[in-house]
Amino acid sequence: MTTTAQTTTRTGLALRGVTLTYPDGESRLTALDDVTLEVAPGEFTAVAGPSGSGKSSLLAVAATLQRPDRGQVLIDGLDAGALGDRERTALRRERLGIVFQQSNLLASLTAVEQLLVLESVRGGRPSAARSRAEELLASVGLDGAKQRRRPHQLSGGERQRVNIARALFGRPSVLLVDEPTSALDHERGAQIVGLLAEITRSHGTATVMVTHDRDLLGRVDRVLEMHDGRLA
Ligand code: ADP
Ligand code: MG
Repeated sequence: MTTTAQTTTRTGLALRGVTLTYPDGESRLTALDDVTLEVAPGEFTAVAGPSGSGKSSLLAVAATLQRPDRGQVLIDGLDAGALGDRERTALRRERLGIVFQQSNLLASLTAVEQLLVLESVRGGRPSAARSRAEELLASVGLDGAKQRRRPHQLSGGERQRVNIARALFGRPSVLLVDEPTSALDHERGAQIVGLLAEITRSHGTATVMVTHDRDLLGRVDRVLEMHDGRLA
């Protein structure tokens, strides 16, 4: 089911004049205020800002999970707001990799099965996808034995590696990562950011990582500051 033509050139992510509000009693709270952002393929951009500044909202809009009040979201030049629900779902599946702040691994599945289940959702045969899943997990640093463990048998950093491998499984153009280091100590956090930098190069993803941890920004190409929904 390819409704958004896989042949479209990869141009990464663009947000243009994006404003997002949430209901707030009698009025509205402005979570994103006229945000414009472009991230090219192979570019690793960090968005840093305090809690409540709008970082997760920015990713939700970029992920096409939240529709903005105003402005455009373009994924590989495709205007998400102009698509119907089914096309937008296909766009997300074919072009976006998302690592959410809350890990949402399935407790009963092994690491490799967390990826294979995606192949079932896509209508493919899990058996054909197994070697690719194993390669991806190895590339994020999980060896064969760990690939057969369930989430509770892995450390926080290892679970985050599974999340990242899973986000890469659909060969995304755009990789969106929310606070990947918040549950990790400094050393493991730095390893995860280093891994994301390598992935951005080797997979050519337009990568956006949001974080409130400024100590971990040595390996990113660009740091943007978010304050009260505005991007500086
Ligand atoms: P961050 O990720 O930087 O902590 P968020 O994007 O989660 O910031 O939140 C930005 C602002 O929007 C905050 O004031 C938050 O309380 C508010 N907010 C976030 N999600 C919702 C929601 N679903 N409904 C109402 N307000 C929300
Ligand atoms: Mg957040």
